[in-house]
Amino acid sequence: MFARAQERILNAIYPPTCIECASADSWLCESCFTDIAPGDALTLSPFRRAWALSAYKDRRIQRLIKSYKYRAATCLEPVFQRLLSRMLNHPTDLDIVTWVPGDPDRARDRGIDHGKRLAELVANALGHGLQADALLLRSASALPNATLPDNEAREGNIKNAFSCIQDLSGKRVLLVDDVCTTGATAQACANLFIEAGAENVDLLVFAKG
Ligand SMILES: [Zn+2]
Repeated sequence: MFARAQERILNAIYPPTCIECASADSWLCESCFTDIAPGDALTLSPFRRAWALSAYKDRRIQRLIKSYKYRAATCLEPVFQRLLSRMLNHPTDLDIVTWVPGDPDRARDRGIDHGKRLAELVANALGHGLQADALLLRSASALPNATLPDNEAREGNIKNAFSCIQDLSGKRVLLVDDVCTTGATAQACANLFIEAGAENVDLLVFAKG
């Protein structure tokens, strides 16, 4: 209720304009949205299924994700919702939706924990009472993965950086992330879920890098 009122007030002060063509009324207008190509199919071990909703090379998607992540532009969430609504068959065979925990200092600086918010958005969109739940604890010594030279270093970093804090016996887990580049981070997380007993793990990313 409050969030909606807040949104109405914000929309009155800062009317939405398309991030691509600057036309009025929405953050990504109908014509700029409709020709965003769906992402290529993803095959990534150990995921049971993996979906990419768009390609990161599309500059509208880059702008969308960067504004959301680095400028805490939560007003753009309806665009993420629309991307999700393009998935023809929403999976129903899931128990938990989760995300890759980011650096807490960065989340504080940026003002939002974007990974958590995207996972919540996906859980709500999929329905069936699905909840976004934190499954991984990030240790303070973890390095930002983008700073590491190769997949092996990234996977090692992630393995040491995170621990799974829930028993996932028999659970079907969906990992949500904004962008999947090499997939190393997502794969390392999935392996931790499987070690914790998960029956299977799926991946949904908003963009394939
Ligand atoms: Zn537009």
